[in-house]
Order: sequence, then C-alpha cells, then structure tokens
Amino acid sequence: MGSFRRPTGWALWSAPRQVVVWVLAVEVAALAATAGTARLAPVDAAGLSGFALLGACLLAHVELSRTIERKREIAAGSGPYLSTTSVWNFAAVIVLPPVLASAMVVLGYGYMWFRVWHRRGTMKPHRWWYSACTVLLANQAAVVVLTLDPGVPATAGAVAVVVAAGAMRWFVNYALICAVKLLSEPRTRVRDVVGGFGEQILEVGAMGLGLLAACVMDTPAVLLVGVPAVLAVLGRSAQVARFRKAAETDGKTQLLNATAWTDFATHALDRTSRRGGTFGVLMIDLDHFKRINDEHGHGAGDAVLKAVAKAITAGVRSGDLVGRFGGEEFVVALPDITAVELLAVGERLRRGVAALPVATGHVSISIGAALAPENGLTVQDLLATADAAMYTAKHSGRNRVEPAAGLLR
Ligand code: GH3
Ligand code: MG
Ligand code: MG
Repeated sequence: MGSFRRPTGWALWSAPRQVVVWVLAVEVAALAATAGTARLAPVDAAGLSGFALLGACLLAHVELSRTIERKREIAAGSGPYLSTTSVWNFAAVIVLPPVLASAMVVLGYGYMWFRVWHRRGTMKPHRWWYSACTVLLANQAAVVVLTLDPGVPATAGAVAVVVAAGAMRWFVNYALICAVKLLSEPRTRVRDVVGGFGEQILEVGAMGLGLLAACVMDTPAVLLVGVPAVLAVLGRSAQVARFRKAAETDGKTQLLNATAWTDFATHALDRTSRRGGTFGVLMIDLDHFKRINDEHGHGAGDAVLKAVAKAITAGVRSGDLVGRFGGEEFVVALPDITAVELLAVGERLRRGVAALPVATGHVSISIGAALAPENGLTVQDLLATADAAMYTAKHSGRNRVEPAAGLLR
C-alpha cells in the first residue's frame, strides 16, 4: 500500500503514459474549475450554517454506512467507485455557495480516506485522489448549469434546471470514470466498462435524495433523518444485482453454474423452437484430468480449468451460453446452428484446448454434440444425448468430437 504522504511512491506513475497524462489533466482541470467557480457566490452566515448541517449529515452517513460502502468498493474492482455520499454533495451544490460545495467534497473524501479506506488499506491513494477530482469537476459542471436558476427550486422551471444540473453532474463523473478505465485496460470491451447499471441507478437515487434534502433543509432540519433510511434501502437494492450475478456464477471459472446454465438454456431453447429454429448442445469433459491433479496438484488443476473455460468462451459466439456443469465438465448451448456448424465449433474448441500452453503440459477434451430437434426436444434430453456421445468419444480414444447417434444422418 503506497503511503498517502509520499505521492512520488504512488502506483499511478507505473501506469501507461496515456493514463498518467489523462489523470493529471483531469486533476488540473478539476482544481482550475473549482477555483473558477469559487467566486460565483459569496460565503455568508447562512451558507456556513448550511455547510455545518450538511457536513454533519455527511460524516454521520459515512459512519453509518462504513461496512456496506466498503463491500461495494471492493466489488467495484480497479476503477474509482461512486459513493452515495453524493446525496450531501448534490444538496450542497444546490443550496450552498460553490466554494462550500467544493469544501464538502474535500470533507467527505478526506473523512472517508482516514475513516474507511486508509484503515482497511483497500483504496490506493491515487485512485482516491482521482475519484475526488472527478466529483469536484462534476460538481462544477452542475454549478454552471445551476447559474441559470440558483438556490432551492421553487418553480417547475427551476426544478428542470436542477434535474439538468444533476444529469450533467452524473454524466461528467461517469464519463471521467469510464475514460480512465478504458485507457488503463484498452482491451476491455466498452460494454463491460459502461455496464454496472445497478451502481448508476444508485447514484441517480442519491442525487434525487440530495434534491429533497436541499428542499427540506430550511424546514425543521430534523426532517433530514428520513434520508439515511431511504439510503439504506437504496444501498440494499443496489446489491441485489450483484447477489444475483454471484448466484449464477461459478466462482472458479466465472462461467454460468449448472443451475443458471440450465435455466438460461431452457429459455433459449423455448425461444428458438417456437420459431422453428435449431439448438445445439456440446458436453465437454477434460481427458485424464485426475492425472493432472495427481501429478501436479490441485492448484495446477484449477489453473487448467480456468484456462479451458477461457478458451471455450473465446471459441464460441457471444450469444452462446457457456457453463461449468460439474468438476471438469463444461456445457455450451448454441442457438440457431446447423449440425455441420455445431461439429465445426466442437472441433475448433477441441483444437483450441489441445493447443493451450498450460504448465502441466498437454491437456485435451472430449466433446459430445447433440442438436434439437433431431436428438431431443428438451434441454434434459439434449444433455443426456450429448453426454452419451461424449462417453463414446472417451471410449474411442479421447481428444475428439462425437456427434450424437442420428445426427448427420
Ligand atoms: P476421463 O478422461 O475419463 O474423463 O478421466 P478423468 O480423470 O478426467 O475423469 P474423472 O471423472 O475420473 O476425474 C475427474 C477429476 O476431476 C476428479 C476430480 O478430482 C477432479 N476435479 C473435479 N473438480 C475439480 C476442481 O474444481 N479442481 C480440480 N483441481 N480438480 C477437480
Ligand atoms: Mg474427465
Ligand atoms: Mg468428468
């Protein structure tokens, strides 16, 4: 863990050059924009007392949500992550002078650093600093929109301005986060970077609450206690998507697990057969895998499983469903495919796996292929038929693709 006190030691400097340049440019822009908006409105006593109120709410929020926020942060992986503390930051943008809204970002990020991330060692300082700068820059973009109609919105038009400011704030923040991810990992697909909609909906909800918080601040401020209650529910619901994904995924290979694969394959088969389409199933089993375990250890065996899972995924279309069916058994569902194509895909996978450079030396797979409607009309039937063909492949010497009886005839 790089020390916060020694920026020269930050991991940022070992990132690719375009990343370093981008990050520094965003940071300079954030500081310049923050300085630029600072003089838009003077700081008065009302502003300071508003700052004290929202700041207290922000710190209480961080304290109350430390556990759950950390889980989200770990799950967010390598990119910066959005925090529901934008409730208070967005409320501050709406009601406070810009310089105090910026101070709120500094307060929140500073407090979270010392209270959450620094202690647990999960957040790299350069990521923390970049995240803070993206929020600062997004805040200033919202401030600019709000100059159209500053203060607590009292008319429909003013609410529209606040919504536009919120949208602007979200967009700038999100675009900056996606940009650095794409620059750091140029080989990731845009779809994967831009995904994570559950987190985004959380950000939108947090800003909606920020608007409400801004509106009730001048009525008895005690009404703000409703906000953490709604936030707790929002936080939970944002986790549901992740729980569902985890429940569908095999932890070792990141493929679909057997239950999820069967579910998805059943739906896909329904859809294709209603249209009168075909539906292929490949049952794949590693050859002499026990030997690999026995000779090289379970860890090496696991590495082989992961490599094979990757090779299978890379060898099929993105609409095909790849699952880990058992210990060293994989299944693939391929909608709308002919018998000839199905066997060609099987052959491609077989060759791809045989060519894998694995530490344990050679690895190969045996494949059984079945097709609806010829070999069965349900996923269960197709699996049973493909399984029988796979055993024929084993008995005929392994490292081969075997069509189900009746296919290609
Ligand atoms: P065959 O060519 O006939 O399929 O031989 P095989 O050795 O692959 O067949 P068998 O079914 O006898 O052995 C499968 C082995 O897979 C046994 C089990 O220890 C191993 N295995 C199952 N799951 C895992 C896993 O998650 N990790 C590792 N390393 N091994 C696993
Ligand atoms: Mg096997
Ligand atoms: Mg097996």
